[in-house]
This record gives sequence, structure tokens and C-alpha cells, in this order.
Amino acid sequence: MGDVMLELRQVHAYYGRSHVLYGVDLAAREGEVVSLLGRNGAGKTTTLRAIVGLVDVTGGEILYAGRSLRGLPTHEISRAGIGLVPEDRRIFGDLTVVENLEVGERPGGPWTLERVFALFPKLRELAGRRGASLSGGEQQMLTIARTLMTCPRLLLLDEPSEGLAPVVVRALAENIAALKGSGLTILLSEQNVKFARRLADRAYIIEKGQIKFEGPFARLDADLSLRRAYLSV
Ligand code: ATP
Repeated sequence: MGDVMLELRQVHAYYGRSHVLYGVDLAAREGEVVSLLGRNGAGKTTTLRAIVGLVDVTGGEILYAGRSLRGLPTHEISRAGIGLVPEDRRIFGDLTVVENLEVGERPGGPWTLERVFALFPKLRELAGRRGASLSGGEQQMLTIARTLMTCPRLLLLDEPSEGLAPVVVRALAENIAALKGSGLTILLSEQNVKFARRLADRAYIIEKGQIKFEGPFARLDADLSLRRAYLSV
């Protein structure tokens, strides 16, 4: 495993007056897939949004390759190499698949239309279709592919398996495994522990905006009371 790529130290965040993250500590090394587990409303989305500057961080530090991200605008964080795949997918329904992909394109970067089509052959078949006409699984693939077009070094995936049929979830797991194989660093927010276990090297559990566990899945699997306390099992 490589050097530490992302590090959150004692991160606090608010929505208006409501305190949502309470001193979150988390790290990911280069090439690692780390999962952030937790129930609905535990603070997973907020953590990912805080990393890319979409939520105001009121305390602590967020370091990316040793550089502080606090206070940087989202487009600069994206340019620095962090790509967020949001939970609500946000594809452009009126644009075709290819047009959606071109929105994120970074000319000269390692990710091209050809390369994302090689990873998601289904998207090539759907190239001329409008975003709004895609199924949930196809939209999830398109959202990941669009973010890849921005050529991130660190990919933040927010509950990618949510709402997808089991067969689609399995296909998605293969796609994400291929991304891991290519050396991309991934922070994977999930409620689906089985899905996360197939992909991630280790896990964090967040509950009420605080990290309650950090370690390998083997330790999580061996501790039923921990899973009962913080996960939906
Ligand atoms: P989910 O699976 O529902 O996405 P999550 O773990 O991603 O859960 P967050 O979305 O980060 O959780 O929410 C953390 C807390 O912040 C919750 O209590 C939620 O109600 C609150 N919250 C989220 N978004 C807002 C907002 N825009 N304004 C106020 N409070 C919010």
C-alpha cells in the first residue's frame, strides 16, 4: 500500500445550526479501497461532501497528499484529483449518454470515452440514449463513468448499490473491482456491508457523526454486538 492520500483529522461540520460531524478521523492510502459504513443519517454523505467542500467544515483538518483542502472551492478540489459520485446520481436527463460523459471530460487525461466504454460496455450500447430513459443501474454506471472522465486519483462513491437489484449490484461490484485493480484509491460509503466487504480493504463505521470502529472486515464479522449497535444487521 502506498502513502497516505487522504486524511481527515477531527473534522466537525454543521448544516446551519445543526452539528452533524463530531471529530471524524479517517485515512486512505494510495491504492486502497476504504469503506465508510453506517445507517441512514449516520453522516456518510456529509463526510464525503465535506471532503469536496460542499459542506462547511468548522473544525479539524482535511489533507489530500499532504495539502490542506479546507476552504478550497469544490472545482479546485476536483481539479486536484478528487471525484465525488453523488448518491442521487444527478445525471442530465435531457442529454445523451455521450453528452453526459463529455460534460466531465478532461482532455489529455488518462480517462477517455473509449476507456470508460471498455469498463462499462453497456454504456457504449446506450451511447445515443437520453439519460432520463436509463434504468437505475445504468444511471449509476453513467454517474461513475462521468466522474472518471474528470480523471480523479481519489474516487468518493456515495452508496452506489442503493436501490439496485442484486444482479445489478453484482455487476457494479465487478466494475468497482476493476477500478481498484487499475490502482485508483476509493472511499466507498455503504449501508450494504456484503457489497462493501467484497471490495474494501478495511472499514470505518460512523454513527451520529462519530467514527465508532476502524479495522478489517474480519474483526467486524467476528463482533455481532458491534454490527447490531451500528449497522442494520
Ligand atoms: P443516508 O444513508 O441517509 O444518506 P448518511 O449516513 O449519508 O445517510 P447524512 O446524509 O450525512 O447521513 O446525514 C447526517 C445527518 O445530517 C442526519 O441527521 C441528517 O438528517 C442531517 N442532514 C443531512 N443533510 C442535511 C441538510 N441539508 N440540512 C440539515 N440537516 C441535514
